[in-house]
Amino acid sequence: LRATLDKVQALASRDALTGLYNRRHMQDKLTDCVRRFERYGERFTTVLVDLDHFKRINDQHGHRVGDEALVAFAAAATLVLRESDTVGRWGGEEFLFVLPNTSPRKADIALQRLREALNRSQISTSVPELRVAFSGGIASHEPGTPLNRTLERADRALYQAKHEGRGRNVMAAMGQPQPE
Ligand code: GH3
Ligand code: MG
Ligand code: MG
Repeated sequence: LRATLDKVQALASRDALTGLYNRRHMQDKLTDCVRRFERYGERFTTVLVDLDHFKRINDQHGHRVGDEALVAFAAAATLVLRESDTVGRWGGEEFLFVLPNTSPRKADIALQRLREALNRSQISTSVPELRVAFSGGIASHEPGTPLNRTLERADRALYQAKHEGRGRNVMAAMGQPQPE
């Protein structure tokens, strides 16, 4: 029974296509991070990622190749980020990273490494030259603010990254200066 329950729970927290954590699990993870932040002052940074011109990949190469791109992105993100980081599929072609004990600047560097890894990785054998690009919005959780506010700041930063030309990250402005 225990093993079955474990299996059911694992399936309930994962996204079927990419194997990443699903939105529900990410919400639990965020709640947990906020608790740790309030109790122990453990900082964390959130990153919202949205794949660039993803509709084009579907339109030009078909939905199956689109799915392969999502899987390739998930694999690269899991490989590049740390064991202590959490990567989830937030919806469609949007992903959420939760990075404990990580400053926005360090998150920015990690995303840059992910971008380089993606430039080297093949998505689909049927379209060997195809690559996937993304934009990222970075926001650290700040004391005395609700979690929703942090996600909003990340989302707004993501929007700005799109607006500024995609394939880049934007760090949300901080309410107060924090040590590196
Ligand atoms: P932008 O750079 O502005 O984000 O452009 P975009 O084309 O990525 O944005 P848009 O939101 O218009 O398109 C997102 C596309 O992602 C549309 C939707 O069909 C596709 N999509 C969402 N989920 C999946 C999925 O599971 N598989 C595939 N193949 N496509 C998906
Ligand atoms: Mg989108
Ligand atoms: Mg997109």
